[in-house]
Amino acid sequence: MSEGILIRGARLAADLTERGADVATAAPVDLRVAGGRIVERAAAGELAPQAGERVIEADGLVALTGFVDLHTHLREPGFEQSETVLTGTRAAAAGGFTTVFAMANTLPVQDTAGVVEQVKALGDAAGYATVRPIGAVTEDLEGLRLSEIGAMAQSRAEVRVFSDDGKCVHDPLLMRRALEYVKTFDGVIAQHAQDPRLTEGSQMNEGALSSELGLKGWPAVAEESIIARDVLLAEHVGARLHICHLSTAGSVEVIRWAKARGIQVTAEVTPHHLILTEELARSYDARYKVNPPLRRDEDVRALRQAVADGLIDIIATDHAPHPVEAKECEWDSAAFGMVGLESAFPIALTSLIEPGHASWAELETLLSQKPAEIGRLPVGADGQHPSALDAGQPADIVLVDPSGTSVFDLDRLHGQSQNSPFLGMELPGRVTHTIRRGYLTLEGGELVAAERVAAAAHQNGAHA
Ligand SMILES: [Zn+2]
Repeated sequence: MSEGILIRGARLAADLTERGADVATAAPVDLRVAGGRIVERAAAGELAPQAGERVIEADGLVALTGFVDLHTHLREPGFEQSETVLTGTRAAAAGGFTTVFAMANTLPVQDTAGVVEQVKALGDAAGYATVRPIGAVTEDLEGLRLSEIGAMAQSRAEVRVFSDDGKCVHDPLLMRRALEYVKTFDGVIAQHAQDPRLTEGSQMNEGALSSELGLKGWPAVAEESIIARDVLLAEHVGARLHICHLSTAGSVEVIRWAKARGIQVTAEVTPHHLILTEELARSYDARYKVNPPLRRDEDVRALRQAVADGLIDIIATDHAPHPVEAKECEWDSAAFGMVGLESAFPIALTSLIEPGHASWAELETLLSQKPAEIGRLPVGADGQHPSALDAGQPADIVLVDPSGTSVFDLDRLHGQSQNSPFLGMELPGRVTHTIRRGYLTLEGGELVAAERVAAAAHQNGAHA
């Protein structure tokens, strides 16, 4: 067993249910962690340190259940020059994430039991985060034949989320069959909503600005029409559908309609779509080239409001690492995507908490409880993910410091690639500590050494 941990005087996000509430209004608590679990919780000052216990002075810090990212590209196998499972989960730990769902667009594609088991095993060995592979919906992401969905679901990787992300499942019959299949084991299809015909060669949001800049436009309707079709298919089949990275005001309206009808649909928004707009394309800096593209200011406002209204269920990063050569080139030839694990919390703080669109308790739901639920991670005292920071729960915990601002610089990035749109920006808040299954992966803002993390993961049987 790894050493125990005593967290002293933290405020719990769950106690801060009012939007705009000062963190100091929550009563501080002590949490004791041992054997991978929270073993005691008491009012601040009531728990005395025990011999050999690591003490974290958490006055001024907020404690949340570990963040869960339903949309991460770890790139391994096949694209190790962009990211590996090890480097990507180090970035996750630095961002406060204790679980990441790894997208299927690897090489080979995660479309068989063998590949998803390999990715899970790499995550288990590294120990920085729980890695839950996502299975491809179609073989080789080609959109022609369904992949081995059942075999992946029954494998040691226990796949519950299926997605061709990066590509849209465009054939309506395949989409229907996929929904029917995952319904049998309570899985979910996560759709990358992008009509391929309406977006051939598209480079940025379609509108006056794309005309002005001479870049091929990407119409909002290419996203909205797929979402509209798929919520109807999900209703017809009676299966669960998840929509990746909503980016337009119109998409929010389709989701509003579908949820009012009782359709089993959930939706995610990325941090970058909550704060950045198409105006950044004026720079022709390909760090701002992303799929779906950055949209208009009114879309950003609609997405924030949709979070406030509960129409958007989760924040997911769409962490998409690319090497320098794929980004430092002309806009047209550059790759789509941004890294996002380390910047997720500061962006959520500045775009949702500070303007009063979400309370701390709601942020915990958006970044932790709800993504765990959609991905069917076992939640609660008997599971892998805590339902609350209570005694008896698994110890996946993140501590954040909401005070102060700092320049988001290269020191904050821990993955293999540096394609962050936030470099050089002054951002509030910081993740200070991440605890996964009872051991530290991030301490005082610094990553814990890989050998120590791997040993702790091994000892705690986290790989079981
Ligand atoms: Zn996508």
